[in-house]
Amino acid sequence: MSVFKLIRVSVLSLVALTGLASCGGGSGGREGSDKQPSPDQDEEAQMGQEVFNELKAKGEIIESSPLYEQLKPIADALTKAAQPRYNHPFKFYLVHETQPNAFATPGGNVYVVDSLLYFVKNTEELAGTLCHEVSHTIHHDTVTLMEKQQQLEKREVGAAVLLGPTRAHVLAILLLGKLHSLGYSRDIESRADLTGSDVCAATGYNPWGLVWLFQDFRNAQIGHIPQLLSDHPDDQNRVHTLEEHFRKNSAVFGKFNPDPKSATSFVVPKNAPEAFLH
Ligand SMILES: [Zn+2]
Repeated sequence: MSVFKLIRVSVLSLVALTGLASCGGGSGGREGSDKQPSPDQDEEAQMGQEVFNELKAKGEIIESSPLYEQLKPIADALTKAAQPRYNHPFKFYLVHETQPNAFATPGGNVYVVDSLLYFVKNTEELAGTLCHEVSHTIHHDTVTLMEKQQQLEKREVGAAVLLGPTRAHVLAILLLGKLHSLGYSRDIESRADLTGSDVCAATGYNPWGLVWLFQDFRNAQIGHIPQLLSDHPDDQNRVHTLEEHFRKNSAVFGKFNPDPKSATSFVVPKNAPEAFLH
């Protein structure tokens, strides 16, 4: 799609299109779509909806912007590759925040901060970031972490319980307070890196993008590091784990060029207009 064609791509049409892409892959639709979701999975959708409602109420969700044109090809490819591994539809939303960031919530929503599009150096770095986030959803990492935190933070939970909420509501409240500092362990992050690289490889986006992103951050200012890296900003372990994964699975990864000079440029229109969802 042309970079400078300022066609309005609304969130809803993006969702509809990614939905079609995920269901129309030629293999007769999403795996497991005919199965009854377990109560836990419904809870994930509920948590995701609560976070969405809150971000919408805060006026952060971008309903339409030419920036969606840059995001859409990556979101579509990723959805196609990752959807068989998760039982709620992945949906990508641009949000307006100052720190470049991306985060995924249970239920399949992936939020991409607009400034991240200006921050990444190439298409592969953005794809790698989103593949990593989607993998947290596939692994149910957020729910697991919130369950742990729920044990620890009785005060917040206590306040919520007075209102007679569901467990999903309690977990969503916890999640909202921690959207930008989820504090996953290094192992959880590494696991998301590996699954993310698998997802990226399946889309055809060079999975070395995530490694390039790590390398770029060695010299970046701490305040400008996206959250997915800020917990372990100079984490050679994560890079080594990825490189080992690439070596061990050369049939999948051998065809990708490790040289960042081979990257695809990522061009975004400057000062792109944004209309917000209300
Ligand atoms: Zn992460």
